[in-house]
Amino acid sequence: MPRYEFRCRECGDVFEVSRPMAESAAPASCPDGHQDTVKLLSTVAVGGVAAAGAAPAPAAAAGGGGGGGCCGGGCCG
Ligand SMILES: [Zn+2]
Repeated sequence: MPRYEFRCRECGDVFEVSRPMAESAAPASCPDGHQDTVKLLSTVAVGGVAAAGAAPAPAAAAGGGGGGGCCGGGCCG
């Protein structure tokens, strides 16, 4: 899940919120409970090497027992 960085305009605190991308624009309250926050355009680690630790290993494609895989057979759509 991507993390977004917010800054509180009341106390100046900067904090991160983990939320789905669909809710990226939703307001967030700071750890002190202030509602006047702004979302910062900062590093959003989604995919890539930054998320290598959390991403499914590529070996799953080779070591799985699907023999073609779910997405390859069209049952995902
Ligand atoms: Zn605050």
